Amino acid sequence: MFPLILFVEGDLMNYVSTRDVSSTASAAQAIVLGLAPGGGLYVPDQVPVISLEDIGGLVALDYPARAARVLAPWLTEFSAQEIEKMCRAAYRRFDTPLVAPVRAMAGGLYSLELWHGPTLAFKDMALQLLPRLLASSSKIVGETRQILILVATSGDTGKAALEGFQDVPGVSICVFYPEGGVSQAQKLQMVTQEGDNTRVVAVRGNFDDAQTGVKKIFSSPDCILELSARGVVLSSANSINLGRLVPQIAYYFSAYADMVAMGAVTLGGEIDICVPTGNFGNILAAEYARQMGLPVNRLVCASNENNVLTDFIDTGVYDRRRAFHLTTSPSMDILISSNLERLLFEAAGRDDRQVRTWMDELKNQGVYRLDGAQLDFLKARMAAGCADQDAASREIRRVFEEERYLIDPHTAVAVHVARQWKAQNQSERPMLVSSTASPYKFGRTVLDALSGGAVGLDDFDCCKKLSALSGVPVPSAIADLPGKKVRHQAVCDVDDMWAALLPAVEK
Ligand SMILES: *Cc1c(COP(=O)(O)O)cnc(C)c1O
Repeated sequence: MFPLILFVEGDLMNYVSTRDVSSTASAAQAIVLGLAPGGGLYVPDQVPVISLEDIGGLVALDYPARAARVLAPWLTEFSAQEIEKMCRAAYRRFDTPLVAPVRAMAGGLYSLELWHGPTLAFKDMALQLLPRLLASSSKIVGETRQILILVATSGDTGKAALEGFQDVPGVSICVFYPEGGVSQAQKLQMVTQEGDNTRVVAVRGNFDDAQTGVKKIFSSPDCILELSARGVVLSSANSINLGRLVPQIAYYFSAYADMVAMGAVTLGGEIDICVPTGNFGNILAAEYARQMGLPVNRLVCASNENNVLTDFIDTGVYDRRRAFHLTTSPSMDILISSNLERLLFEAAGRDDRQVRTWMDELKNQGVYRLDGAQLDFLKARMAAGCADQDAASREIRRVFEEERYLIDPHTAVAVHVARQWKAQNQSERPMLVSSTASPYKFGRTVLDALSGGAVGLDDFDCCKKLSALSGVPVPSAIADLPGKKVRHQAVCDVDDMWAALLPAVEK
């Protein structure tokens, strides 16, 4: 059989909305808009393909060059040189020239460390690049209005977006986070943010409330009109933005190239990938990497107690009508995974009406259900598992005691699920695990797991103690926080997010 989809260099990439396939956009348009009109997400008309030979060619390149090679066919309005220049600038602030190094762990696991950027979480991989993509994209589409970036965060996106967009000309940014739903360090990182174009607001609610509120503003004609009258246009730095998704595809290729270089796999050999999942952006990037030609067998979706995705992948029923748990892996405390919609679109055979029906059912009844063929599609690609806080805690301790390697609670959830899945399936394939945050971003939980000695200490003392235990220094992005001035103190109710946002466009 001949491949049905072939990418020919020189073709212009086209994107369509998951809720209306007649609504199309170029990459630059999709990046500027964030969300498609009508609330859909932009997906590629056809996924570009990279040959095995080209994947082998990545081994000799550094990270920015690898990323540029992977990104170029997705961003056909940008020149290859321009993309590489943006990647070089984006990854300069990382604390290792490797940017996203792979570390071999016991039992055939490989940790892909995605937390060497300025805010110590994997969001930096995309959010150091997105502002550059957005600035360039608005030039391409002729957008002259001020862009307001609206973000709902479960903790890590907010800081990474603030850091990426701080003082970027022509752009302002407003971040909403769930009051009480983020760690002390995460909160301090955000409320001490500098920059004249930044605003940070705590919402009395959980992450889903904040995300729903942001989506409401995006889809409200009144809000759009009011902003437009002020010369402002909305865009999104949440992982629904194509400009967030595409940079994440690159690190899976880079990791594979590293695994080839270290002899963990031979070029063309298959690996599995396990991803600690919240909004489904990171694991979706892995799926796109596979569609581009990366030799991946299974994608394993790892959840914490908020295991709506585990049940969904097992049964085909997505049911958000369940208790919401605040856990030690807050960036995965999510019951509505926005990016799943992109995979659903494929599972439905690219039927936009079916996607609209499911999303309406989710909104109105809190539940939707795939049919047999749709579930088969899903199961052919994904496996799923979950780990509760005790299991994650035990995993942190085990990995440190057996391997002298510190992992954060999100990564621990994935390591636990990966080991379990490997054992159950007696898989010999190497398993890449997405390591999504520095252990120091969640120092209290990690120290508690190692020694139970966090009682009476604040998060920063925990990090110091952790450093003494492990011999790994506390990164300055954490160590310097207590001395910083709090600049953002706004708090609002879920229903008042629009009013709370307005000062961001009044400056
Ligand atoms: C955002 C985040 C996740 C979840 O990633 P998604 O792309 O939303 O699935 C996992 N771990 C950490 C540390 C994060 O910051």
